Amino acid sequence: MVIGGIHGNEPAGVEAIKRVIRRIQEEKIQINGQFIALRGNLQALQERKRFIDIDLNRLWTDEHIRCHECEGAEFEELDSLYDEIRGAANGLRQAVLLDLHTTSASSSPFFILGDTIRNRRLTARIPVPKVLGIEEQIEGTLSTFLNEKGLVAINFEAGSHEDPGSVDRHEAAIWLALTHTGLIDRQSVPSYSRMRGILRASSKGLPRVFESIYRYGIAENENFKMQAGYFNFKPIGRGELLAYSNGEAVYAPISGRIFMPLYQEQGNDGFFIIRKINPFWLLVSLLLRLTMPRKWIVFLPGIKRCKRDKWTVRVNKKIARWYPLKILHLLGYRKVRDEGSRLLVSRRKYDLFAPENIEL
Ligand SMILES: [Zn+2]
Repeated sequence: MVIGGIHGNEPAGVEAIKRVIRRIQEEKIQINGQFIALRGNLQALQERKRFIDIDLNRLWTDEHIRCHECEGAEFEELDSLYDEIRGAANGLRQAVLLDLHTTSASSSPFFILGDTIRNRRLTARIPVPKVLGIEEQIEGTLSTFLNEKGLVAINFEAGSHEDPGSVDRHEAAIWLALTHTGLIDRQSVPSYSRMRGILRASSKGLPRVFESIYRYGIAENENFKMQAGYFNFKPIGRGELLAYSNGEAVYAPISGRIFMPLYQEQGNDGFFIIRKINPFWLLVSLLLRLTMPRKWIVFLPGIKRCKRDKWTVRVNKKIARWYPLKILHLLGYRKVRDEGSRLLVSRRKYDLFAPENIEL
């Protein structure tokens, strides 16, 4: 599955999907499986706005789906998209979704993904940087929701909203994903090497994997204004003036690279700060996840099993202070909730293997 326009001011993904479908039909390209293209937020796409009432890509939780008390245009959109995805994926063993986006700042293309081995595998052969850890800082995204239900689901960001090249990069990413999932034979993809080349050239010189370590969240009624001139992956120093919040300066709390700085009216992520991960650690984490039994996690000091859910553990921050969340990340855990003195972290259920049957 591929979806474009979940943010209505990001129509580049929808354009690219149309191109791919036209090509498949014209050249009668054979598909080994099902290829489903989705579009929506439909109402926001029509008005060319990120959303009408509420961000559709922050609503994907079981509580919001088929919610009778929830008000807003996006809840209708949520239910109709959910029905489509459910209809397509339920009962299958393997389903993949690529969620297409663009950014308000200018940017090289990149993937945002939850750090599962299955997500990593899909993106491994597509030559653009991968950014991990965003899913701990943003709640209710479509891809995290689907990851938890056992689908491989990743976000692809093609560049800025206005850049015509974003449509080309989206198109390239769709073709490469179609081949890497085995849906289309590589030989039948029109100009496969050119597609790879487009992506490779536009992210030249950038490290391959990053981790998000800081998010600046914008409060309701806060007047946030990003300083001009920032673009994705631009290196920044600690203490650098990045933005103004209600007229007061916002400085970088740590050094790293700026990520998704907000240059549009709607949205509540001001900016993120990311840092490079050495690919060596990804390999270590793959080996640990393959070999270490899940139950062993409680042998780490300060960690207690959660009685309600066998996949979740409570981390006593005081005791566990000397070893960072990083170790838990390596082992395939993600932060679910910060409870002050304790941290709730959960092992990703479908990290290594697909479920027997997908059930949404
Ligand atoms: Zn978006």
